[in-house]
Amino acid sequence: MAVKAVFFDVGETLINELRYWNELARRLGLEPHVLWSALGVTIARGEEHTDLWRHLGMEPPELLDVLLYDRSDLYPDALPCLEALHERGYFIGIAGNQTAALEEWARAQELPVDVVASSARWGVRKPQPEFFSRIVAECDCDALEIAYVGDRVDNDVLPAKAAGMIAVHVRRGPWGYLQDSAAADVRVDSLAELPEALGL
Ligand SMILES: [Mg+2]
Repeated sequence: MAVKAVFFDVGETLINELRYWNELARRLGLEPHVLWSALGVTIARGEEHTDLWRHLGMEPPELLDVLLYDRSDLYPDALPCLEALHERGYFIGIAGNQTAALEEWARAQELPVDVVASSARWGVRKPQPEFFSRIVAECDCDALEIAYVGDRVDNDVLPAKAAGMIAVHVRRGPWGYLQDSAAADVRVDSLAELPEALGL
């Protein structure tokens, strides 16, 4: 495999969403374990995670547009991995199903990457094929030279593979543990393993 570019999902790939979800629950007056349980229902049923609000009998809160990550929410292995790959000359991108506000947050962190994008700005969400076509359009390389790294099999691994990319499953977070990663080309438990796993 001749990888030239590596693109990363955001939630539970680069970012530990624990604090985010707990803060969301706190502001909504929900116990965190209730929110997490509803999220688990959506994973088990193969639904959009936003269906959790329906399970809780709630409208999607407007808070989602204003609640931001904190730099300390980056998984400890995220920055070292981005730095290592960027220093070696690979084209590095961040592209996930995120709000415009979270894309702006990511850009403000001045991470060692070439591209920061989001479903909000592109107007297309994973797992739609057009999302992965946009990634190819951002790179001066073919799909088969791009590794896409994500924690979700349904939104990351399967559509990346269908697009002809090298599909990398990072096994952490709720989806990472609960979804079957058999379809992934590469499986890692942390981003610390990623460069070696990709042979970079
Ligand atoms: Mg994710």
